[in-house]
Amino acid sequence: MSKIKVKNPIVDINGDEMARVIWKRIKEELILPNVEIDLLEYDLGLKNRNFTNDYITIEAAQAIKKNKVGVKCATITPDDKRVKEFKLKKKFSSPNGTIRNILSGTIFREPIICKNIPKMIPHWDRPVIIARHAFGDIYKSKDLIITEPGELSLNFKSKQTKKNFKFKIYNFESPGIAMGMYNIDKSISDFATSCFNYALSKKISVFLSTKNTILQNYDEKFKQIFDNIFEKQFKREFKSQKISYQHRLIDDMVACLLKWRGDYLWACKNYDGDVMSDLVAQGYGSLGLMTSVLQSPDGKIIETEAAHGTVTNHFRQHQNGDETSTNPIASIFAWSKALWFRGNIDKNKKLQFFTKQLEKACIELVETGYVTKDLALIIGPEQKWLTTNEFLKKLKEKLKVLLN
Ligand code: NAP
Ligand code: MG
Repeated sequence: MSKIKVKNPIVDINGDEMARVIWKRIKEELILPNVEIDLLEYDLGLKNRNFTNDYITIEAAQAIKKNKVGVKCATITPDDKRVKEFKLKKKFSSPNGTIRNILSGTIFREPIICKNIPKMIPHWDRPVIIARHAFGDIYKSKDLIITEPGELSLNFKSKQTKKNFKFKIYNFESPGIAMGMYNIDKSISDFATSCFNYALSKKISVFLSTKNTILQNYDEKFKQIFDNIFEKQFKREFKSQKISYQHRLIDDMVACLLKWRGDYLWACKNYDGDVMSDLVAQGYGSLGLMTSVLQSPDGKIIETEAAHGTVTNHFRQHQNGDETSTNPIASIFAWSKALWFRGNIDKNKKLQFFTKQLEKACIELVETGYVTKDLALIIGPEQKWLTTNEFLKKLKEKLKVLLN
């Protein structure tokens, strides 16, 4: 097959450690031999973030905004240990957070389903896509320790009228704890729009979960904003695609998660999304099979990545010259999803066909028993596993067969 020509570029964001090692191989062995594309490369490896005072991260985000499609390798979010290890000028913040803020996007986490990977819930044979509203609530809260008796109240001072509104919360007679938190309509609206657009692109239904029976103002607001946006902008198109939107109480939704097969988008408030995305990832088998897509509210800009990190443990082995068995599938799907989206914008059907063959090659390999160690361990003690090198070699062969 001759190389598929792609008119417009995508932004290729490099990262750290084992994820970086695999990144190079995916690009050189699976993508570039088959696709002729201009990759706008941004090196977000920690060394370069330090060298550029993290300016490279902002540049990468702006490049994604301009070119509409980015694909990102996992990166180290430095903690105190990393500051020492890399002799950093400062503890730079998470690149994912920086990029998310610039794109004001929502993160969708989607598992890759392979028939022979046992799931915690055996009938989960279709993906559950979790969307997390990554703004506000407890993550921007003020929490306090109350040590002595006194009155706790909530104050709001209007900028316009200068009026002070005071709401009594509790009269403490003994020590305790307290918290104040907030969210803003604009962020919730962007989240709702993102979710509806993503669901439309996947042709799946949307469920928003809240506890609006208890938080009759706070959580009810989430419901109202979703309801309004759905009625005004999405209802008709959802109907024509035969998909739906519903609000459900979080406790009811958790029960449904266990009962249902999948194939829906679950819009979660910030904390619920934090907890549920890890629960669902584990439930589907392995972090090595979980992808993550950051999408702008209007659905026109995306950045894809694997949900896992830089796999430091395996990188230490690799540095010692030992073979590793690192699962490259989630990183490969980051590439296939980004290229698919490029193909969708450019109306490049050949490119979209290639991405589907690449995904099929991964899934068929796994389903015929060629797996890395992380998957072998969940399949069972009899299952043999391949090293990273062996797996990539098999994959290249399989892809070649599928493309010819
Ligand atoms: P991690 O890199 O996801 O790895 C945690 C463990 O999960 C690994 O030690 C490995 O288990 C297993 N694992 C993850 N991905 C795997 C794969 N593709 N194939 C096989 N096994 C896999 O998380 P971490 O060790 O907590 O974090 C390492 C670094 O990644 C940190 O510096 C963190 O800041 C960064 N991080 C980045 C992102 C991101 O860029 N999106 C996300 C999370 C973490 P075994 O060791 O048992 O084999
Ligand atoms: Mg979490």
